[in-house]
Amino acid sequence: MERTDFLIVGCGPAGATAAREAARRGVATVVLERDSVVGAKRVCAAGLRPGFCRTFDLPRELVHCDTRRLALFDAGAQEYETFFGPGHTSTREELDGAMAALAARDGAEIRTRALFRTLKIEGDCALVEYADLASEERRTIAARTVFLAAGATARLEDAAFGRLAMARWREGLITTLQYRVYLDRPAAAVAYETLELHYYCARDGRPLIAWMFPKRDHLAIGLGVMGKIDGASLRAELERFTERVQRRLYPGAAVTHVKVEGHLLYGGPARRCVADGRVLVGGTAAGFVDATNGEGIFEAAMSGRLAADAVARRDHVAERYSRSIGQRFRGRLQHRVMLMRYLERRPSRYARLFAQMAATPRLAEVLLKDDCERTFSERAFLYRQALRFWANTF
Ligand SMILES: Cc1cc2nc3c(=O)[nH]c(=O)nc-3n(C[C@H](O)[C@H](O)[C@H](O)COP(=O)(O)OP(=O)(O)OC[C@H]3O[C@@H](n4cnc5c(N)ncnc54)[C@H](O)[C@@H]3O)c2cc1C
Repeated sequence: MERTDFLIVGCGPAGATAAREAARRGVATVVLERDSVVGAKRVCAAGLRPGFCRTFDLPRELVHCDTRRLALFDAGAQEYETFFGPGHTSTREELDGAMAALAARDGAEIRTRALFRTLKIEGDCALVEYADLASEERRTIAARTVFLAAGATARLEDAAFGRLAMARWREGLITTLQYRVYLDRPAAAVAYETLELHYYCARDGRPLIAWMFPKRDHLAIGLGVMGKIDGASLRAELERFTERVQRRLYPGAAVTHVKVEGHLLYGGPARRCVADGRVLVGGTAAGFVDATNGEGIFEAAMSGRLAADAVARRDHVAERYSRSIGQRFRGRLQHRVMLMRYLERRPSRYARLFAQMAATPRLAEVLLKDDCERTFSERAFLYRQALRFWANTF
């Protein structure tokens, strides 16, 4: 039977980073990716946090716009601006494509049109079964460690995945829809330096997050609603939101083309167990997404790095990976879920938070960091800010 050291399922930011960093360290690595072209089908606003390309050693050419301005809109469409970074935007075709190419250059084998089916543990290895969509054959590959990084649609809730399954996974799923809006002339200049996030209620009263992220040649305008919503209602919400964006940012421009794309995002708590024996879970499949804004690319890539690091050290892989995930961002992500639920319970709280952020420029920068990166004075600052917010809104 075919064997490898490290078998990765999914070639998004989590899988590709894990593949690249493990292969660089001499670990025999194979990636199974169901799509024929990596990244071509990813639906995402592709906003990247400051320093993303530097952190993951990626070419700066990926960046479409440097977005130093964050515009937050409350339920009454009042705008609050704050400055950070700058952050960046890209597209997933370019980002995932570049990450996969670099992983392959560094020695990982990436098999496209390879659909992961299931796995079982036998003796000292994990047996992974996948469908080779090109030849229409089923294949099995034995691996010392498996990294599951198949994104929000990963189905880990059946018995084969044991402790990795999370009973309430489905409750955290968010339905999203996005337009790529191409214009006959550029939108207002401020659009290309801004990430916009809007927090308000859908017509059925459910909380909704909407965004406008600028790209070189289009604007990504989209929204997400927690749970399932029928396609027509979602589209009507997005139409209304797009009209609002149009009135502010491109009132005189003609729309030449709109590409419609939808996908699931995850916005609940991370899985409690992300490593069990020979199997690790990373990226969105593990629930590593910031519930307040849907950011998950950084968390995915970082979890890939931590997985590669654990695998390259060879012993106590699951324990090492769990521990480093805990130290890196488990606490922050958990706090973001709690903050989001607190805000949603009384939407007037968004306005208080955004006003506080706009009046306190340092807050956005400190919030971007993980606990392990914050200095003592930053932690004390954040604690004071949290107390102030809580006192104002309780
Ligand atoms: C509409 C939308 C907007 C978003 N905007 C942002 C943003 O602006 N910034 C940000 O940071 N995050 C954003 N996110 C979140 C971000 O997309 C995810 O957090 C990120 O893609 C997670 O990376 P990943 O590698 O874990 O999974 P993914 O990127 O989902 O990659 C998973 C890979 O696994 C493959 N796969 C799936 N199933 C199988 C299978 N059975 N066999 C083989 N391969 C399989 C898929 O084809 C895919 O290539 C957004 C998400 C959505 C839906």
